[in-house]
Formats: sequence, structure tokens, C-alpha cells
Amino acid sequence: MPLMMPTYRTVACPGNSSGVIKFTNCLLVKGDSLVDGDLWVSSMTGKILNGQEILYEHRTAPEKIVNLGGRILSPGLIDTQLNGAYGFDFSVIPEEATAAYGKGVLRVNRSLVATGVTSYLPTLTSQPPEVYQIALPFLGPSGNARDASYGSESLGAHCEGPFLNPTKNGIHNASVLQEPINGLSDLANCYGPTNLQTPSPIKLITLAPELPGALSSIQALTANGIHVSIGHSEASYEEAKAGVKAGASMITHLFNAMRPLHHRNPGIFGLLGTASHSIRKPYFGIIADGIHLHPTSIKIAWNAHPDGLILVTDAMRLAGMPDGTYDWTNGSRIIKNGALLTLEENGKIAGSSIQLVDCVTNFLNWTGASVPEALKAVTETPAKMLGLQDVKGTLNEGADADMVVLDLQEAVGGEKKLVVDEVWKFGVKVFDRI
Ligand code: ZN
Repeated sequence: MPLMMPTYRTVACPGNSSGVIKFTNCLLVKGDSLVDGDLWVSSMTGKILNGQEILYEHRTAPEKIVNLGGRILSPGLIDTQLNGAYGFDFSVIPEEATAAYGKGVLRVNRSLVATGVTSYLPTLTSQPPEVYQIALPFLGPSGNARDASYGSESLGAHCEGPFLNPTKNGIHNASVLQEPINGLSDLANCYGPTNLQTPSPIKLITLAPELPGALSSIQALTANGIHVSIGHSEASYEEAKAGVKAGASMITHLFNAMRPLHHRNPGIFGLLGTASHSIRKPYFGIIADGIHLHPTSIKIAWNAHPDGLILVTDAMRLAGMPDGTYDWTNGSRIIKNGALLTLEENGKIAGSSIQLVDCVTNFLNWTGASVPEALKAVTETPAKMLGLQDVKGTLNEGADADMVVLDLQEAVGGEKKLVVDEVWKFGVKVFDRI
């Protein structure tokens, strides 16, 4: 049942082609609060405007006034770990031609945006070098054209592997895993030397800090502006801390594919309890799909470091497909049963098929977080982790006008649900549920 009966209305002002749009009667997500207010954006520049300046200094009237009927206006959602969707897998190069790969990426982008995810990191699981070298040029930042018709925007690729610990490979094929013994030159041989040069198509690399050569690799990557996340790792607390000291700023899907917390060696999870004067506590990814983690584990992690929590889907190409058994990479097969995906040969969890907005809904119901606190985990926090806090994940003036209109519904028992009603990309409406 909706909390309030909205009156949706868009008023166009004839003869005005300023491209300025004013959103009114909405709850704006600002930090940890929902604020009553108007928001002004430009469909010409694709940016958020200073309403006062537009109205009083430039005396520009809006071309369009959008009345949101009291609904929530949030920055567009950001997914930092998406392996594929709509039947397309970023880690699989089609046999016909690499052009088909580029078309597949565009198809994902155009479908994905309707889920409220306006930008994301296309993610590659561990692969042999030739896959990275073909795929990465298609996965780099795609927002330069500032064209809303391209759909969701890549902020750069996330390479999850292949420099991972074989004992924590999860569903990654252990035979393609490597050790970065020679540091950056091994990484360049794997991903392709041009793919590590600035501007790199790679935004984030997940690696295991305990591997030989990992710490010098982390230093070299972060010096080149590529962010590093710790994951698929046997790291002790001390090894994990050394990884953060070397420059790693994130933990990939906390709790999954790493040592569990031990009271005498808290492992990677222990980083969340580190005194802030010792090292900077890393950001951490959480898969809130009800399968990967117990809700209480999520609540403990959030309480330990609320400003670090980033909700990710880790969704793969079967997201949105019917139940059944599907061929996967490297000869493996995956069984899809609802949201549950498992590897046929050993029953291991094989990614998820959840949508990011549903992760936010789960997080709301499991932790008691407020709506803006939950949305922060898919907007402001991932943007900060990527160093994009002025451009993405915020409704502040000057940021990209990537926005989601959300309806907060509440069931009789008090369960909440966020529904994506509209999506705006670069100041242009690209999805409308109604
Ligand atoms: Zn993983």
C-alpha cells in the first residue's frame, strides 16, 4: 500500500526551450536525510543546477515542471559488481565477432538503466589473458558522449581476478588464477599493457594481498589511479592490513570467499574494527540477496563501519532468465532456482540474480536503516570509493543529473519496499513505470 496517494503531473511551458527542468513536491535524498525541496536540472548539459541562481540571476523559467507527488528523488544507483545480465556475460567473448560483444554491452546498458542503475562497473571474473585483452576496450568509461540513449553508463571495468588465492576461488576457474610475482609487469601481461595506461578502461581490481608481489602491485595500480579491492583471499588480519597500507581501499563481497572471523585472528573482517588513526577503514561490498549472507552479518558489518558499506548485486547473466540449468564458462554449468544460482558440480553459490533496488529494500528491512541511509550504500558511498563524489551519487549542484524516482511502499506488517517509478539519465527521462 503506498504511503501516500501521489498526484503525478508534468507541466510543459510552451515557447521555452531552455532545457531547464524543475522537480517539485519531492523528497530529496541529501546525506542521511530526506529533504522537502525542489531540484533543478538541465537536459542540455545533463547536470544538476543551482535553482536560486537560475531563477534570480539568470531569470530563466523552467521549460518543464515535474510534480513528483511527494515521492523520493534519489541520485541514480551505482552497482560496482555486475558480471552480466539479460543473457549477456561480460566474461564471454562471442565466437562470431568481437563487434557482437560491443553490441551485447550496449544491450545490457539499455536494459539495466530501467532498474534504476544509472552507472556501474562491468565486472570480469577470472579469465585467461586473451579475454581481458579483447573485452576491456569495450568496458571502459562510456559517459563521454553524455547521451542518455546509451542507457546505464560504465564507470570503468572491475577485474575480479585473476590474481586471487586458489583456495578461495569460489566459482572462479582455479586453472586461470595467477600470482603477480613480478608486480605490475605480470598485471600488464595479463590485462594488456595499454589497458593499464592512463586513461585505463579498468576502474577497480580485486586481488588477494597475501600473494607474492601483491603489495607492490597494489602500490603501482593505485599510483596509476586504479582502485584496488581485497577479495577471494586467505589473508590474515595482518596481511589484509598490509594491503590497505599499500593502497587497497575496498573489500570485495565481505564475508564471502574469505576466512571467517576468528577471535584470535579476525582476518579481513577485522579491518572494520581497526582504529581510524592506524589505517583508513576500507569500503566493503555486501550482497544483500538473502542467500549469500545472513541479515545479522550485514547488520554487524554496517554497525562497525556505516560509511563504508556498499551494496552490490554480483548479478550474472542469468538475472531475469527462467529457472533451469545453463552452460557457464569453462565447461561448468549453473542451476538457477529462483534467485538461487549454484554450480552444478559442487553446489557452490554462483553469483546472484537480484536487482540493486531489491538489495536496498532488503537492507532497509534487515537493519532498521532509514531510507536515505540505505540509499547512501548505492549512491554516495560507491561514488566516494571511486573518487567520483562530485559527479555521481549526489544531488548537489554540478553533479550529473542521473536520478531515480522511488515509491516507498509499506505492507501491513511494516515491511518496506522501494519501487523504481522513473529513471533520468543526464537530465533526460529514460524509464517511466506508469
Ligand atoms: Zn567473487
